[in-house]
Amino acid sequence: MRAAVMLEVGQPLSVEELTPLDPGPRDVVVRLGASGICHSDLSIAHGTFPCPCPSILGHEGAGRVEFVGAEVTRVRPGDRVIGAPVAACGHCWFCIRDEAHLCRELSMSRSVPRSARADGTAVPAMCGLGTFADEMVCNELSLVRLETDLPDEQLSILGCGVTTGVGSVLNTAHVEPGASVAVIGCGGVGQSAIQGARIAGAGQIIAIDTVALKRETAATMGATDMVDPSEADPVEQVRALTGGRGVDYAFEVIGNLTTMVQAVSMARRGGAAVWVGAPAADAVVSLSAIDVFYEEKRILGCLFGSSQPRREWPRLVSFAEQGRLDLSSMISRRFALDEVNDAFQAIEAGEVIRSVILY
Ligand SMILES: [Zn+2]
Ligand SMILES: [Zn+2]
Repeated sequence: MRAAVMLEVGQPLSVEELTPLDPGPRDVVVRLGASGICHSDLSIAHGTFPCPCPSILGHEGAGRVEFVGAEVTRVRPGDRVIGAPVAACGHCWFCIRDEAHLCRELSMSRSVPRSARADGTAVPAMCGLGTFADEMVCNELSLVRLETDLPDEQLSILGCGVTTGVGSVLNTAHVEPGASVAVIGCGGVGQSAIQGARIAGAGQIIAIDTVALKRETAATMGATDMVDPSEADPVEQVRALTGGRGVDYAFEVIGNLTTMVQAVSMARRGGAAVWVGAPAADAVVSLSAIDVFYEEKRILGCLFGSSQPRREWPRLVSFAEQGRLDLSSMISRRFALDEVNDAFQAIEAGEVIRSVILY
């Protein structure tokens, strides 16, 4: 198998030939058709999020099942599948309380070695998946089977970014028809939050980004107002657009401390800030306690859009099939696996909404 491996933090990924290890009884071998590139892959390569070296990066993958271990029951060879970065066991304290995205049981499976380098070094895979590879071996609990004619490249971006964005609106915040929404950061997840707000019937959707391409794309995804935060204080701009009150829901989709506090500030009295973006592991936020108390602000943490893949993905696939969720316009560029480092550069330059690797 050919894979993009992180050998050292801060260095380009190494695209090399690996030898897959024998799959266990509950493991599945998937021939990948496409992998999305999520900002978290970049954050790991930069060392913002911890991950052992070496590791195969990538956690947004779609493909077809090639082989199943003797005890596998969820999927069969030939099935189309998406890999879930939050695998759920289905029977722990969280899973039986309908919070499968918070399942803790399978975190250990993430460090299982899945392949070996030419010198024999064992290589685990990010999130137990490792989709920057033409093939992945993972536990069956990490896979969701889907019946659809949507292409792999569209299914792959459901794997993390789109589900996080749409889910933050539908599952975490439960945005109601007519509500006002602001989205800070309009990359792949932010555009998905904008689409989620449109699907939820939000009355006003304010897109906030310094990059013109992202504001223009937001307008096509359903945003009603566009704000350039480099022109003037974004909190004041949002208040000016909402009768001085602020929005019902402010989504922060970057994981930046300044914009996380801005999200709280631009929520109206009684409104909610939703922290969707992943902050650095050591980030500590400073807020006005009296504002949160007196203004009755709510701050909602949001992991993976509070989404349970086995329930969420069939719903998102049907939204896409009905034309209510636009996946094709989310994909700005397509790369070969050998170009993965160029793809990272395109993200850093703000040139893309979402990029995919095609196999
Ligand atoms: Zn991701
Ligand atoms: Zn569980």
